[in-house]
Amino acid sequence: MANLLDGMDKVYSKLVPELGRADMPVENKATCLTCAMAPKPGADPEKPVAFTARARCCTYNPLLTNHVVGRILRRNDRGAALMRARIEQGGGLSANGVGPTAEWNDHYRKQASVLFGRSDELRCPYWADEPHACTIWRDRNAVCRTWFCKHEEGGRGRSLWMEAHDAIDRIDKTVAVYCVTLGDPPSEHARPGQWVGWYRWCAERVDLFDAYDLERVRTREVLEAVERLEKVVTRRGPLPEVVVPSLLEWYPRDGAMLATGYSAYDMDALPADLFVLLARLDGKRPWREALGSEPGLDEALVQRMWARGMLAEPDEAFREGSTAVAFRDGPWSGVPEFQEQILTSLTASFSPKD
Ligand code: SF4
Ligand code: SF4
Repeated sequence: MANLLDGMDKVYSKLVPELGRADMPVENKATCLTCAMAPKPGADPEKPVAFTARARCCTYNPLLTNHVVGRILRRNDRGAALMRARIEQGGGLSANGVGPTAEWNDHYRKQASVLFGRSDELRCPYWADEPHACTIWRDRNAVCRTWFCKHEEGGRGRSLWMEAHDAIDRIDKTVAVYCVTLGDPPSEHARPGQWVGWYRWCAERVDLFDAYDLERVRTREVLEAVERLEKVVTRRGPLPEVVVPSLLEWYPRDGAMLATGYSAYDMDALPADLFVLLARLDGKRPWREALGSEPGLDEALVQRMWARGMLAEPDEAFREGSTAVAFRDGPWSGVPEFQEQILTSLTASFSPKD
């Protein structure tokens, strides 16, 4: 388990020390240094790729709040230089922070459905061609801090990180708005140097927050978001006697059944006879009785599916669309030939040990 505050600027321990109480999973399957979604060394160059190593999930342009931008600028490193270049470029700058330009957003909206994970052109402005590609890692925003392509605990893991995202995002934005009320931000058409000065001022002002300031940024919304995170952390219990299927997508492939309870980026290869077992999980019969004698349909499989969120307690509502076979909303939705291409590449990179 990991402490959410590890790797965050020390100011967050002062702003929301409660974040340190949430035991977060270590997402070992999202191997970012050698991206788990990119082709493995020696992969067939003719095969379609899900993500490229140079673009991967950093086909994104983060909104960074004013005090975060200030912290990046004062580090005087590669990330600070890229941030200065971004500010000099103009567009997307405001008293609250730095975000994508309107042109970038427009381009992204039109292209992301087919190019997410694969387009150098859509790559983040703070990405660099070096082993630790993110130059602002210590100050990355809530999205970058909490998004993973794969989760050790499947959908529950994703829910945890989504709540963590909400808590971090709320505190970042609340502090940014509060800084604006305290300071004197530049006008819309200010020079780059004025923006740099403003963002640095915000970072320094947040460092000086006292009890009065903390009371104003630790709003009800912020504290409720932290409480929701703590509730999700403790929600999932041991495997109950009676469970029901909760699959999002499944595909027969190469003698196995690829299945997931929450994301096509993170599929498990399960026995081809999986549905013989699932058909017996009727919400009344204990799963031990439902196992039968088919090879591969055993307790280890049930435990694995439970841990990965592919089984639910009967009183948990079936999620909308849980019986859908087709791809649902995702980067590829609406592009059938791309769905097949992505599935082929995911299958090619799949290892039964995953
Ligand atoms: S989280 Fe992003 S960089 Fe990390 S392994 Fe997944 S796609 Fe690759
Ligand atoms: S800020 Fe870092 S992690 Fe986030 S998209 Fe950019 S390079 Fe990737």
